[in-house]
Amino acid sequence: MGKLDIRSLNFTELTDVLTNRGLPKFRAVQVYAWLHEKGVSDFSEMTNLPKALRETLAEECTLHNCKIDTKLVSTLDETVKYLFELGEGEYVESVVMKYKYGYTICISTQLGCKMGCSFCASAIGGFRRHLLPSEMLSEILTAQRDLGVRISHIVLMGTGEPLDNYDNVLRFLELVTDEKGLNISMRHISLSTCGVVPRIYDLAEKRLGLTLSVSLHAPNDAIRSKTMPVNQKWSVETLLEACRYYTEVTSRRISFEYAMIDSFNDSDACARELASRLRGMLCHINLIPVNTVREKNYQKSSEDRLRRFSQILEQNGLTVTVRRTLGSDINASCGQLRASKTQRR
Ligand code: SAH
Repeated sequence: MGKLDIRSLNFTELTDVLTNRGLPKFRAVQVYAWLHEKGVSDFSEMTNLPKALRETLAEECTLHNCKIDTKLVSTLDETVKYLFELGEGEYVESVVMKYKYGYTICISTQLGCKMGCSFCASAIGGFRRHLLPSEMLSEILTAQRDLGVRISHIVLMGTGEPLDNYDNVLRFLELVTDEKGLNISMRHISLSTCGVVPRIYDLAEKRLGLTLSVSLHAPNDAIRSKTMPVNQKWSVETLLEACRYYTEVTSRRISFEYAMIDSFNDSDACARELASRLRGMLCHINLIPVNTVREKNYQKSSEDRLRRFSQILEQNGLTVTVRRTLGSDINASCGQLRASKTQRR
């Protein structure tokens, strides 16, 4: 049997594990604090435990630490990109961005991705496996420790489709927001999905208070299906219906991501069609000039196009922002560093 993934247990489960071995309950309080509040990377750091207990834990449990393989720091805006090694020759990437309100980390939720969006570097190399709750936590703990700062915001927008790793992501959210742990507010967490419709309904029922981002990238099925295979399973209308349901149940605004690709989805007609489909919805649109990934030949829309597109949306009563590009000198968008590492291998 494999070792116990102790950092993925919640407090109740950890307490059961330890008390079943005849240990007093306060040991669970101590161990949980080391794992989640202090974020140790080794059992030997748990200095208020008896040495014998530390040794037993080390024998029977594993911490699934991320090790820093590569760290790139942007000279433009202090964005830091990490390529972490997870063992077994697997790599995962995270990006830390500095904003006026604090540090935000963009974490990966899977090794690779099944969704196959044609503009996205995460699809390169295919899907390897889901990340465990402990591994997602370790992305944050490792970056935080390395930088010596407190990370206050999380976006689940790195490699992978969070709603395709639903149970692990939900457990991760439970642990990372725990007052006895990293204690990051649910209001400071965004989860981005390409549109796994049944899971959007499930997530709505949880009423978590996080921000749901939906990668729309097109106003209709004809355009969306060309770049996003997921659209063949759940059409734009099916997706928008789930989004409407989500906003009704949670009263939370949805953020639609729209990557602007030159002469593909950035015409005035696209903007008008998008506006007519989203009108009246509790939402916000985030326009992103598509990031050119070396392996793909999509080009960014021009500044003029972006301005005109957002103007049309605004004239139709929608709220729009154009996402600022951070870390452009270090290839900071998702999947690119991992893809280059995987290809070198
Ligand atoms: N699987 C999730 C989260 C990961 S991708 C999702 O699809 O939402 C995070 C965001 O980056 C998504 O909106 C995705 O569509 C976008 N993205 C991927 N590749 C991009 C690129 N080359 N340029 C701009 N945005 C991109």
